[in-house]
Amino acid sequence: VSRVVVKIGTSSLMHSNGKLNLQAIDQLSYTLTGLVNEGKQVILVSSGAIGAGMGQLGLTTRPEEITKQQALASIGQSELMTVYQQRFATYGQKISQVLLTHDVLDYPQSREYVHNTIEQLLDWGVIPVVNENDTVAVDELDHRTTFGDNDQLSAIVAVRSHADLLIMLSDIDGFYTGNPHKDPHAQLIKELHQVTDDSLKRAGGAGTVFGTGGMATKLKAAANILNHNQMMVLANGANPSIIFNIMNGEEIGTLFI
Ligand code: ADP
Repeated sequence: VSRVVVKIGTSSLMHSNGKLNLQAIDQLSYTLTGLVNEGKQVILVSSGAIGAGMGQLGLTTRPEEITKQQALASIGQSELMTVYQQRFATYGQKISQVLLTHDVLDYPQSREYVHNTIEQLLDWGVIPVVNENDTVAVDELDHRTTFGDNDQLSAIVAVRSHADLLIMLSDIDGFYTGNPHKDPHAQLIKELHQVTDDSLKRAGGAGTVFGTGGMATKLKAAANILNHNQMMVLANGANPSIIFNIMNGEEIGTLFI
C-alpha cells in the first residue's frame, strides 16, 4: 500500500460531552505522519465540523434547521483545521484543506483541478484534509447533493486518486450481521466481496443529511470501492493508531475486497 485515504467519523473525533477529542486528533496526526515518513501518500477525509461548531457555541443538540447546521459547519471547520494544523505541526507534518462538493466533482474541468491539486500536495508530502463544503452543499430537497457524512465522499476521493486502500474509521469494530446496538447476536463480518441488498438491509436505514451517515452510507462507499476493484477496511477509530495495525496487514475490522 503506497497511497491511502483515511476517513474518520464525527463519533471518533468528538467526546460525548460535545468537546473535540484532542487525544484522538493527536493520535491520528501522529499515526498519519508516521505513514508519510515511511514514504506513503496519505489523504485524510475528516468529518466533525458541525460537532465542533456545536461545541464552540455550547449547543448540546444538533439544530434541525439547515441554515444553523451550515453556520455551525462554518464555525467548526475552522476550529477543526486549527487543531489539526497544531497537532500535525508538532510532528513536523504539513497539511492542507480541501473542501469539496458534488458539483465540483461532477464537472470535468473542476474535477481536473481538484485532481491536479491533490496530486501536487501528495507529491510535496503534504496531507490534504478533505471535507464536504457543508456551507454550500446541503439541499433539503435533493439529498443527492450531499455525500452523507463524508463516507461516500471518501470513496469518491479514493477512487479518483487510485488509492490502494480506503480506511474508514467509525465508532464500531466493523460491519456486523445486524446493528450490534440492537441485536445482541450480531456477528462481525470479517470479509465482504460484494455489497448486496441483503447487506444493505443489515445496515439499517440511511442516515440523515447532517446526522452521521450510519452504516448504510459506509456500505455504499464500499460498493463504489469494490466496483473499482479497490480495497476498503472498516474499523474502530477509538484509537486511531489502529491504522498502523491495518497497514501491517493485521486482520482488523471488515475488509471489503
Ligand atoms: P461515524 O460517525 O463514525 O461515521 P455512524 O454512527 O454514522 O459512525 O455509523 C456507525 C453506526 O452504524 C454504528 O455505531 C451502529 O450503531 C450502526 N449500525 C447499523 N447497522 C450496523 C451493522 N450491521 N454493523 C455495524 N454497525 C451498524
